[in-house]
Amino acid sequence: MTDCLFCKIVAKEIPAEIVLETDRALAFRDINPQAPTHVLVIPKEHHPDAAALAEADDGLADDLLKAAHAVAVQEGVAEAGYRVVLNTGPAAGQTVFHVHAHVVGGRDLGWPPG
Ligand code: AMP
Ligand code: ZN
Repeated sequence: MTDCLFCKIVAKEIPAEIVLETDRALAFRDINPQAPTHVLVIPKEHHPDAAALAEADDGLADDLLKAAHAVAVQEGVAEAGYRVVLNTGPAAGQTVFHVHAHVVGGRDLGWPPG
């Protein structure tokens, strides 16, 4: 997609602090971190949200979850615990419509979320 912020990060047209790259996924630090670890994990292929990704049914959602876990291990938050968040749609606060998993950790996280 030509006018998608995260597609531009995949294409390296916009800089990002990349922490993990696989053949199908990319992980980079959130520009406005909400916790000591706040990384966004995206499929390189454009899907607008988690619902579209689930419907793609080609193993990409599986790759995304595995990449999120790898990021948590790499960031040193896997043992203490962390959160993987997929805001889906405007009511959930999704603002960038290229599916992204927030990997959040490094502090105690309240529940329920806002
Ligand atoms: P969401 O509200 O779930 O759609 O999350 C979008 C996230 O993207 C927010 O946490 C933003 O801080 C983050 N974000 C927006 N632009 C950038 C960027 N250029 N690089 C890294 N993170 C970004
Ligand atoms: Zn995109």
